[in-house]
Amino acid sequence: MYQTDFLIIGSGIAGLTYAVKVAQQFPGKKVLIITKAATDETNTKYAQGGVAVVNDLENDSFEKHIEDTLIAGDGLCNKEVVEVVVKDGPERVKELIEWGAQFDKEKDGDYKLGKEGGHSEFRIIHHKDITGFEMERALLDKVASQKNIEVLKHCFVIDILTQHHLGYLVTKSSPDIECYGVYALNLQTNKVEKILSRCTLLATGGNGQVYRTTTNPSIATGDGVAMVYRAKGRIENMEFIQFHPTALYEPGLKGQAFLITEAVRGDGGILRNKDGEAFMEKYDARKDLAPRDIVARAIDSEMKRTGTEHVWLDCRHFDKEKFIEHFPNIYQKCLSIGIDIMKNMIPVAPAAHYSCGGIKTDEWGCTSINNLYAAGECSSTGLHGANRLASNSLLEAMVFAHRCYLDVTVKINDINLRTDIPDWNARGTSDPKEMILITQSLKELQLVMSDYVGIVRNDIRLHRASKRLDLLWEETEQLYQSSTLSPQLLELRNLITVGYLIVKGAMFRKESRGLHYNTDYPGKSELVQNIVL
Ligand SMILES: Cc1cc2nc3c(=O)[nH]c(=O)nc-3n(C[C@H](O)[C@H](O)[C@H](O)COP(=O)(O)OP(=O)(O)OC[C@H]3O[C@@H](n4cnc5c(N)ncnc54)[C@H](O)[C@@H]3O)c2cc1C
Repeated sequence: MYQTDFLIIGSGIAGLTYAVKVAQQFPGKKVLIITKAATDETNTKYAQGGVAVVNDLENDSFEKHIEDTLIAGDGLCNKEVVEVVVKDGPERVKELIEWGAQFDKEKDGDYKLGKEGGHSEFRIIHHKDITGFEMERALLDKVASQKNIEVLKHCFVIDILTQHHLGYLVTKSSPDIECYGVYALNLQTNKVEKILSRCTLLATGGNGQVYRTTTNPSIATGDGVAMVYRAKGRIENMEFIQFHPTALYEPGLKGQAFLITEAVRGDGGILRNKDGEAFMEKYDARKDLAPRDIVARAIDSEMKRTGTEHVWLDCRHFDKEKFIEHFPNIYQKCLSIGIDIMKNMIPVAPAAHYSCGGIKTDEWGCTSINNLYAAGECSSTGLHGANRLASNSLLEAMVFAHRCYLDVTVKINDINLRTDIPDWNARGTSDPKEMILITQSLKELQLVMSDYVGIVRNDIRLHRASKRLDLLWEETEQLYQSSTLSPQLLELRNLITVGYLIVKGAMFRKESRGLHYNTDYPGKSELVQNIVL
């Protein structure tokens, strides 16, 4: 059994930023970070484009960044949260630079600024095309230098502990649900640990793996969202899944799709259809730099119209040296599969990329469950609304990790550790006889979600998806009750819950707004609402 003051689930940008801050503020208290994979295996590590932050006050302003974020969010952003995130951004980035992160600079020492879809100015700071890798590296180095932080890797959190584990009935309408820590499957010992904590932060990242094609790594299975839903906490706006327009199309690829960052279009990359036509001007005046939802839908429509599985991204007119300087990783990846970007166009198709909704929090990162915070992609803070503005997510994670830290600082001394939670009970379970049941159900889930709950939706497809998910849920619950635990089974169970929440959100939203497009309701409803489940 572990006991700690601060428990953090997840070692991406949100979890690590918060961990460093609480560890520095409370050198006498224990900070424990748990992660289910290798420490750096996170969505953060794969972020390419960079961080949106107002830097160049001559040409840019907070007001412009706020306005761009609100336009992308399509009426559902919380304006106060947008203002807080945008205005706090420069300070958080400065802090990360002080902790050792490096961003590309011009010869005169100013930061190089990129531009992405939906941004009215150049404001994306970056480290070549591996910004997330550099940020994760700097944060892990900083964590390693803090004596009171312990990192437990390959440890899979199953559920958060609440009054339910003390034998009380906990429902959605129970007031004052409290979090006392977690049960976690230690993948090195195969034992379920009871980890007690005075306060817990969920920083479990996204859920792209619920779809067949995604830019997200295999860890992105929506575990935090599913845990909070099971614990009767509030989940919001799950229907808003951002599909990145340009993932590299590799026929037969299973698992994570390689991303071609939007910054390539920011630097002049042009989308072309099967016939070589630059089609974006048919769809939006901003052409290739329209917001992602518009570009993804335009590509989807071109692919359906021409019966192809991808479109092309044309970079043949780029200056080779400049391209390699800004996008060395993309250049090498393309070359490794026989694409010389100076001679060949890059085949690209949309892929699930970012979850705008998630665990509902207030403006300090507090969830609806006491002593439980959420930050980063698993949370729904009000920043993104119906659509995330490109490169606003790393920024949000840093700002909200900081706000969770500010909030917990004034509360921690009044929170007691609860030690009377029973140990995990594995009686009546045995090893699953056929792993194929789990892998097949996962495939079915991903197919259902991709075919019926993708970029373009309608009521018939959503109802079909809902029915299929009910069956998958029933079968998986039976397996869960009778089997010894494995990460595959736990992830399947969480992904089915996440799929269910996306479908439910989509069914409740009788309109098309932001990332949610339903052909049965092509317009916007007058009722502007967040859907809370
Ligand atoms: C290819 C790609 C490119 C991107 N580019 C950009 C960009 O340029 N700019 C931008 O702003 N955003 C970008 N994003 C989005 C951004 O990277 C993520 O939103 C952000 O990194 C999420 O950080 P996080 O800390 O919330 O979660 P993550 O970095 O995903 O970390 C989640 C952590 O939680 C752990 N975890 C999950 N479940 C459990 C469990 N049950 N038990 C224990 N541990 C668990 C994981 O192991 C991991 O350590 C990109 C995303 C991808 C995939």
